[in-house]
Amino acid sequence: MTIIKVIKGTKDILPQDAGAWQRLEAKALEVFSKYGYREIRTPIFEATELFARGVGDTTDIVNKEMYTFEKSDRSLTLRPENTAGVVRSFIENGMARLSAPVKLWYKGPMFRYERPQAGRQRQFHQVGVEMFGIKESSADAEVIMLAVDYLKSLGLNDLVVELNSLGCPKCREEYKAKIKEVLKPEFENLCEDCQNRYEKNPLRLLDCKVESCKAIFEKPEIQKVIQSDFICEECAEHYSSLKTYLDKLGVKYVENKLLVRGLDYYNRTVFEIKSNNLGSQNAVCGGGRYDSLVKNLGGEDTPAVGWAMGMERLNSLLPEVEPEKLDGYIVSNSPLEAFALAQELRDAGKRVEFDLSNKKFTKQLEKASKTANFALILGEDEINLNKVSVKNLETSEQVTVDRNMVLNQLEK
Ligand code: ATP
Ligand code: MG
Repeated sequence: MTIIKVIKGTKDILPQDAGAWQRLEAKALEVFSKYGYREIRTPIFEATELFARGVGDTTDIVNKEMYTFEKSDRSLTLRPENTAGVVRSFIENGMARLSAPVKLWYKGPMFRYERPQAGRQRQFHQVGVEMFGIKESSADAEVIMLAVDYLKSLGLNDLVVELNSLGCPKCREEYKAKIKEVLKPEFENLCEDCQNRYEKNPLRLLDCKVESCKAIFEKPEIQKVIQSDFICEECAEHYSSLKTYLDKLGVKYVENKLLVRGLDYYNRTVFEIKSNNLGSQNAVCGGGRYDSLVKNLGGEDTPAVGWAMGMERLNSLLPEVEPEKLDGYIVSNSPLEAFALAQELRDAGKRVEFDLSNKKFTKQLEKASKTANFALILGEDEINLNKVSVKNLETSEQVTVDRNMVLNQLEK
């Protein structure tokens, strides 16, 4: 029979790797709670239209990367990201009526039909936050601070925050027009993707990773437009006060005018957090402000800001998690007695296993020394005397104690 294999671009998270994921999740809960965020869990599939409208139909995500299927005449899509789903839920559950800010976080799998490579999968995982209801730059600063704090809690201190402001739809129109104008003579030399985006989403061109396009953007007359300060006074004020907050908080950042982000919904603040240790897929976190999205999806006009981090990429930057040993492994020829002792200790909160298949004493001892801190020996003598021999597997020290003192011995 042929063996069925895992689908290309997806991966099992095996028991030996699960500890690393649990570390990411536990730290997320711990750190995000300090800032008042509460977890939200939305469905993994949604109406396709949610992403078409929410992520934007000029994006790669919507145009090329969605897993879409039909069921009962409805078009459904596996979520490629979770901001759209969270916004849908925010609107549907009337969260705009709650006093602002509403702070939410999530974690879970996302699905994008991309070319699998290091740091890029088709099913991958994100942890993310969204804050609704605050237009002031203090909110942008808080979500960025939160990202930095979370990364620090994981031991990641040397990542770079890149920052830019995309202005508002009004001031951006002019900038878009200028970018198009200055790139017009180069149109034939742009890559196919850039040519396709030129009309609909010209800002996205700046983000192109193709070397020949990058070289074009380096030309002085084009750089002059890219580096120009196009944003209006209010947007400039918002951006500069965000930087004042970050300076005050000691968050280091570099400004990058080429940072435009792939999604349509951003305005004003956009940011990414990058590592030099990730090769070409070097972004661990991407986010920004999306003040028009709630309204675009049919809700009340509500400003919002948030980010998402790639959990696979986070894990690849972190040291492996050592598997935790059992507190005790019971070595005995009486499964009945061993089982009873195991239950007593488990009831007291200890991690305990025993041999379920009548293996030889020596085999059981071997297993104990591989998996546990203590071997709990329950031989015939011990059973008759209601005692247990407790062997510290690190020091090889062994003592025989009354059965009701085992717990005590494990805690020494
Ligand atoms: P990239 O430029 O790397 O494609 P993106 O702009 O598409 O990123 P976002 O949609 O902002 O990414 O997602 C936030 C984070 O999720 C990224 O910074 C990255 O760490 C992670 N991520 C995105 N796509 C994938 C993927 N296909 N596989 C693994 N991680 C991913
Ligand atoms: Mg992408």
